[in-house]
Amino acid sequence: MKSVVIHAEGSVRVEERPVPHLQAAGDVLVRVVCSGLCGSDIPRIFAHGAHYYPITLGHEFSGYVEACGEGVTDLHAGDAVACVPLLPCFSCPECEKGFYSLCKQYQFVGSRSDGGNAEYVVVNRANLFRLPAEMAIEDGAFIEPITVGLHAFKLAGGCEGKNVIIVGAGTIGLLAMQCALALGARSVTAVDINDDKLALAKSLGASQAFNSKDLSADEIAARLSENRFDQLVLETAGAPQTVSLAIDIAGPRARVALVGTLHHDLNLSSATFSKILRKELTLFGSWMNYSAPWPGDEWATAARLLSEKKLALKPLIAHVGNSESFAEAVQALNGSPMQGKILLRLP
Ligand SMILES: [Zn+2]
Ligand SMILES: [Zn+2]
Repeated sequence: MKSVVIHAEGSVRVEERPVPHLQAAGDVLVRVVCSGLCGSDIPRIFAHGAHYYPITLGHEFSGYVEACGEGVTDLHAGDAVACVPLLPCFSCPECEKGFYSLCKQYQFVGSRSDGGNAEYVVVNRANLFRLPAEMAIEDGAFIEPITVGLHAFKLAGGCEGKNVIIVGAGTIGLLAMQCALALGARSVTAVDINDDKLALAKSLGASQAFNSKDLSADEIAARLSENRFDQLVLETAGAPQTVSLAIDIAGPRARVALVGTLHHDLNLSSATFSKILRKELTLFGSWMNYSAPWPGDEWATAARLLSEKKLALKPLIAHVGNSESFAEAVQALNGSPMQGKILLRLP
């Protein structure tokens, strides 16, 4: 089978590999249909960030069940599935509480084991979510990134009736924004430094879109004054400046969900820190996308929104192609961030 393989020096190659075999009880062989590159894959490719090399990445994929191993009775050949990449231990105190994202003895498809950037992949039954019949199979590659925002909404007690502000209009932010609209948010605002992304956010339903290069935090906050109560701010950009910005623009008693991961230290000014106190903000972290019962209702909600065609995915896609074309597009990033999803589409 063709597999898109990453080598330690950051080279992306299409290689012929044997089709993997079912080994352990609970294994399922999946024929991959669509697999997306995640922002978190970029350091795995270009900055020695993978657990081993050579590796086949891919943790955002959909496909059809080809064969089931011993003990798998609730999936059958031909079933449409999407990857649920985390495999928590299910037995530590965190797992027993249902806090699967917090498990420390986990496996992860496409980082600690080979993933979906290949024609076939073997994963555990728990790593698969069955897709509803109404859903387009290729949309399954978006379920994982959609659930990231849905998990933050869940931790915030939902987004219905709230004024949702998305800081960072990348893939995660634009998906979360569309979910918020579909789930009954009162208003949705996007903040970014890229006018094209802001225009896209507007076309996807954002009531307001602000460029934080052109406007100060105070100016943005002033323009949000009509929607300043019942805010839920989602920080998805993962930069020290955008974390400060999220705190600075948040309204009274807002909830601020920190979703983006930082690669640089954050120094909060005392003025920004005092806003946490003076506005009585609730800041909370949101990590991955899992809750109990496994893998969490985030996954069912994402599948429902996709089945109901509530989320526009096409405008978020920068590139879609076969193994060779996907490998070229990934290689061409050369370590820089993705400007739109890069997808592998297999026949
Ligand atoms: Zn990811
Ligand atoms: Zn655990």
